[in-house]
This record gives sequence, C-alpha cells and structure tokens, in this order.
Amino acid sequence: GKVLVTGGSGFVATHVVHKLLRNGHHVTATVRSSKKGDQMIALVPENLRANFVYVIVEDVGLPGAFDKVIQENDFDGVIHTATPFDPKIQDPQATLKPAIEGTTNILEAAHKYGPNIRKMVITSSCASVISEEKGDWPGHVYTEADWNPITWEAANDGSWAHAYYGAKTYAEKSAWKFLVEQKPNFEVVTICPPYIFGPALQHLDSLDAINTSNAVLYSYINGSLKGKEIQKNGVHLWVDVRDCADAHVVAYEKQGLGSHRFVIAAGTFTNKEVADIFREKYPDRASNVPTKLAEGLTPEGEPVGGKYSVDNSKSRKLLGLEYLPIEQSIVDLMTSLKPLESKA
Ligand code: NDP
Repeated sequence: GKVLVTGGSGFVATHVVHKLLRNGHHVTATVRSSKKGDQMIALVPENLRANFVYVIVEDVGLPGAFDKVIQENDFDGVIHTATPFDPKIQDPQATLKPAIEGTTNILEAAHKYGPNIRKMVITSSCASVISEEKGDWPGHVYTEADWNPITWEAANDGSWAHAYYGAKTYAEKSAWKFLVEQKPNFEVVTICPPYIFGPALQHLDSLDAINTSNAVLYSYINGSLKGKEIQKNGVHLWVDVRDCADAHVVAYEKQGLGSHRFVIAAGTFTNKEVADIFREKYPDRASNVPTKLAEGLTPEGEPVGGKYSVDNSKSRKLLGLEYLPIEQSIVDLMTSLKPLESKA
C-alpha cells in the first residue's frame, strides 16, 4: 500500500517508517525541513530507499497543512504521529494547538481529498488515559475505557506536563468526535502508549538531542542523576518503541480491524529497576547510577501504598502484539547511542 506518515523524523515515526518499508509499503513522510528529510533518507537502508519519499509540512497545526500532499497522492492509509513532545516548550498553546489542530487537519484532509484512504492510525498516548489526580491509584487496572479527566483550564495552567496531557487528550477526543460526526470512509485507530523506550533510530545531532522519553532513561547512566535519590515514578507504565511501531503498522495493515482505541503498554516498571539494570549492564559507569531510594518507596522501589497496573490484552488479541522486556529496551538504546557516545 501507499501510506503517509506525519512527523516522520521523530523517534517513534522513524521505527514506523522503517517497519513499513521492510513490509513492502510505499511511504511518504512529512518532515519540517529538507535537512530533516535528507537526514531521514540517509538512515533508510539502501535497498528500501526507492519506496521512500518525504514532503515538507512545517507546521501540522496550520489550516490545510495536509491538503496538498493528500491531493497530490493516492494514499490508502495515514499514520499521524506528529505532536510536539518537548518539555522546553513554555507556552501551553504551542503544545496544544499543533496536537489538536494537527489531528483535525489530517482527518479533514483525508476525508476531503483521500477517497481511497481506508485507515487512519493516530498516535495518541497514555497521557489521554491516565488520570493525574488519581496518582498511583493502587489496585486500578488501566484499560482502553479510561480517559484522563484533565480540564481545558488545567491544560492551560502554564505547566508543560499539563499542556501535553491536555494536548493528547483533546486531540484524541477530537478524532473520535470527527469519526462520529463526519462518518469518513476510513477506520480510525488510536494508539495509546505510555513511556516509550528503546533504540534511537532517528537522526541525532548529539546526545543532547535524544527524544524526551529516552532522555529520561538515559539520565540514569549519563551522570545527571549521580548522587541523587531514585524518585517514585511519575508514570508507572512503559513500552518498547519496536512494539509501539508494530502496533501502528499492524493497525494500518490489518483489513477489517474496525475503529479501535488501543493501550499499547508492556506493563509497569520502577525507576529502581531501571537503575539496577544500568548498574548491572554497565559496571564501568556504575558510579553514575543513583542507588539511594527516596522516601515513600519500598526496598523494591515500589510506592509504599501500591500502584496501578495495565491490561494490554486487547492489543495482544487484536494486534497480535508480544511485548519486549525493559532490559532489552535499555541495552538496545545504549547500543544505538554508542556512535554518539564515542564522539562526545
Ligand atoms: P519526537 O519528538 O521524536 O517526534 C515528534 C515529531 O513530531 C518530530 O518529528 C517533530 O518534528 C514533529 N513535530 C512536532 N511538532 C510539529 C509541528 N508543529 N509540525 C510538524 N511536525 C511537528 O517524539 P516521539 O517520537 O516520542 O513522539 C511521537 C508521537 O508519540 C507523538 O504524538 C507523541 O505524543 C507520542 N507519544 C510519545 C511517547 C514517548 O514516550 N516517546 C509516549 C506516548 C505518546 P521536529 O523534530 O522536526 O520538531
């Protein structure tokens, strides 16, 4: 098939694009500049390059952002990943607007100008699933039925995290609203992953450019948490980027799947577990890895009052997913960063 992937140069999207190409699809990726597009091409294995092109969409949040690329091609599917995911963005609207309007723009363009588009896969997030107010929520099992109750007011309170939670929640809600109201020809699948870890396949200029979620993981070994306490997890769930990419690709490929929301999570983890794995696997850098547990954690690094878990059975059943263990995610991230580490 011929598929459009938005935000193509990102961490998740790069895995999605490579997987699509390996599966024999023709891929058009949107990127924000020709520099990013050329960097993407350079990373595509040579034998797959013939099926890959990029187009420039500088800002997915601008009106009609996707009209031209959809008018000029005959896509049979879209995978929409582009969303700003950067804690350095201060203005809540700079996170909210591209996320929400980017989603409505792609839906509208596909509906108006993509007669043969049969599938719209949207990268949502567990940010639209998990409730911040409920905190650790001991005993709760998150599923596709859960929605983050964040209000528009809270999303605009100036905290980057709140803007991001709001962006993902309101963007996904607008997709489901669009489906009900506009009844497009295509099925809509939303993919809700929590923390995504694993090999960085995307172009990186330097170690400082690592994507937000891997940066959290990498902080356990690069010295930035040295001598500090291991904190309680803010989010208790995680998934490997390859499983997350598989979810997108299977959702795109699978005929007759129907419209669905999927929580794509391997399970729970603790920051202590992450620290232990880094210390064990990279003993020469063990002194960088924090050891002391913050208050409120059991010796195993669990919140003393307990925590929520997740039910990933829908993704296993309908998408056939099997989830990688976190140790593999960590080791493969480190392998992917080796060339940059040896330059640094
Ligand atoms: P990245 O930052 O690596 O990727 C985001 C991509 O979106 C980049 O290619 C970025 O381009 C592009 N982008 C951002 N804003 C705009 C805009 N206004 N117009 C056009 N393109 C834009 O992050 P991830 O790969 O981690 O995120 C991909 C998706 O996965 C996002 O939707 C994110 O919300 C979601 N997600 C990620 C999780 C994680 O832990 N990583 C967890 C759950 C969901 P550029 O780099 O050029 O700015």
